[in-house]
Amino acid sequence: MRAVDVHVHPSTTEYLDGAMGEFTPACESYFHTALPRQGVDEMAEHFRRLDVFAVLLAWDAHTNTGYPPVSNDFVAGCVAAHPDVFCGFASVDPLSGPAAVAELERAVRDLGLRGLKMHPGAQGFTPDDRTHYPIWETASALGVPLLVHTGTTGLGAGLPGGGGIHLAGANPMLLDAVAADFPDLQIVMAHPAWPWQDEQIAVALHKPNTWIDLSGWSPRYFAPALVREIGGRLQDRVLFGTDHPFIAHDKWFSAFDALGFDDTVAEKVLRANAVRLLGL
Ligand SMILES: [Zn+2]
Repeated sequence: MRAVDVHVHPSTTEYLDGAMGEFTPACESYFHTALPRQGVDEMAEHFRRLDVFAVLLAWDAHTNTGYPPVSNDFVAGCVAAHPDVFCGFASVDPLSGPAAVAELERAVRDLGLRGLKMHPGAQGFTPDDRTHYPIWETASALGVPLLVHTGTTGLGAGLPGGGGIHLAGANPMLLDAVAADFPDLQIVMAHPAWPWQDEQIAVALHKPNTWIDLSGWSPRYFAPALVREIGGRLQDRVLFGTDHPFIAHDKWFSAFDALGFDDTVAEKVLRANAVRLLGL
């Protein structure tokens, strides 16, 4: 495979019309794009054609948003149907108490999902709140990475009150405490974390169990400090991702090529780092 995309949302109606609800039309205008709905087979074919292995993300923010989840069972079903191009990360609703821990254990042990994806703004929590520590403790014990949205979000952008989404929980500095308290837990800070880009770099440089995924932004708009670290000190802990279907693969790849990294760095970012993190 040419690359591993560590940040892929199902471009299906379950995610775009179900779990995202009114956020989808707002997102479409924020990213200046119309999002075609795909079936699971069609989505698999898209990745097969690109020769890209995709980490499919479940989504469960039902307590905070009222929208139905993209369930762990749905994602496991996608993986079972197309194991050559998909693996899956679970999602659990952090506001569901002990049920969140039980669901994470089920998703990893019984469904074979290989990580946990969380979104503080959508799910209505802050990562350093000790109420949620049993979830991080469980991920750490299961040996699966935790991928957490950081930085601003297209979700709710432009809606009255930003759709009720709070941005503060997505400050990567909140994950610094989690990385300190769970040194064996691998934590992926998803997206270049604008407006906290320097904070994100500082956390990544200080905590070797943290990573940065490069999804959600065209590489054209990466901050100069981030570009420098990708080619330098963080080249072993940055990960290719698109945030499919919000960012198109061809555009991401050509903008990344234009940054002019040497082949060794590009191979780490596009493939090798993810292979190591996920044990592929
Ligand atoms: Zn995303």
